[in-house]
Amino acid sequence: MPGILSLALYTNLAFAAFVSGTQVLLGNTPPSKDPECTLEEHDGLTVPFQICSKLAAPKHANSTVPASTNETTTVIPWVEPIPCKANIYGNVTYCVFSTHSYAQGRGISLVTTQEIASWFIQRMAPELTASVNDVSNPPFIQKPMPGKGVGLIAKHTIQRGQIIHAHTPVLIVHKVMDEGLQVNDRLELQRIGVERLPEASRRLYMGLMGHGEGQDVDKVEAVMITNSFQMILGDEEKEEDEPHNGVYPETARTNHDCRPNTAYYINKGTLIHYTHAVRPIMEGEEITLTYTNHMASHEERTAALDESWGFTCTCSLCSLPPSYISASDRRLQLITSLQDQLTTDWSVTHPLSPEAGETLVSLYIQERLESEISQAYMLAALAYAAVGEEYPAIKYAALAVEYGLLISGPEDEEVVAIKEFLEDPKLHWAWMRRLGRGKGADV
Ligand SMILES: [Zn+2]
Repeated sequence: MPGILSLALYTNLAFAAFVSGTQVLLGNTPPSKDPECTLEEHDGLTVPFQICSKLAAPKHANSTVPASTNETTTVIPWVEPIPCKANIYGNVTYCVFSTHSYAQGRGISLVTTQEIASWFIQRMAPELTASVNDVSNPPFIQKPMPGKGVGLIAKHTIQRGQIIHAHTPVLIVHKVMDEGLQVNDRLELQRIGVERLPEASRRLYMGLMGHGEGQDVDKVEAVMITNSFQMILGDEEKEEDEPHNGVYPETARTNHDCRPNTAYYINKGTLIHYTHAVRPIMEGEEITLTYTNHMASHEERTAALDESWGFTCTCSLCSLPPSYISASDRRLQLITSLQDQLTTDWSVTHPLSPEAGETLVSLYIQERLESEISQAYMLAALAYAAVGEEYPAIKYAALAVEYGLLISGPEDEEVVAIKEFLEDPKLHWAWMRRLGRGKGADV
């Protein structure tokens, strides 16, 4: 069954800033010359590849490197030769960087620029906790589902907050590459990337279904498009971060539901993808993620699922009679409107009361949007703080932290901020802001 495409586009506000940062491949800049690369004919391929002999680890004197980074790495064991292709503008070269040593032998292939591969080197040795890439005793079984291929079925009750998946990616492909590379070049690089994976990872990848495969659509590309998660690679502080698609085969087997029982995030430092239950999942219940924008209307979700994945959603929400679906769409409109007001208007004279935050939380619960609800709890906490009501503010901030950890991860900026808020709401900028008093008062 199809997986997930670029969900971060929709589900995580923190990712939104990244999405607009796509690189524009225009202009007549001459191709950058890499002294370590020469043009050679690659056996069995009709187009000459640019072969790079060996890529030394870059100097990252000014960059922020996670504590888990293996700083001693100097030469990366990329599988050689490293095939490369220049884009049609001649200003960007994409290569295949593969290694079998990544993630304790799971391996990885990146189809990206040399700059991004060098940045990735600093993430080559993430500290893998016992749960990462562990498939020895998952809380689910795989089972054929009518009309949905294979589904992941809970084999016992899974409590809210329990981890379901934690995996490293096996293939990462530069997202903007397809705008500048010849189609054959792009497909060739992607194919080599998969061919060079360790056998177990290659089998996992090729075992996934790709929308349209078998209909003159390249299998490797179909799987990548259908099953990838959007991620950002590169140095954000230097504005060298660029969007990529990453494939996590085990996680990609999770089927869609418009009101899923799990949420996921990708740790920006380690690129590990985590999935957690956001409500109790009963034994025998299917474990689900959403492939679409949570806030999209039923009509928009239906169109997106049909276009990108080729199926009609039969989830419990989409199976309701039209009048119930329109009630859901109306709640989504109210949620969007309330969130806009609670987020943007902080004037003293604004009529918004804490009840607006309560209503927002209630609408999320009515809509069974636990996979996004941390935002509602956070705004409710700020709404109470803005009128100086400490304990309701603490209550909702604690809930925002609990769900934020599942939805966005411990390193997410908003999660870190709301944890600080929880330490002492009276020190926060929102405190009594709508009363014209306190630290956050208008001046
Ligand atoms: Zn649905």
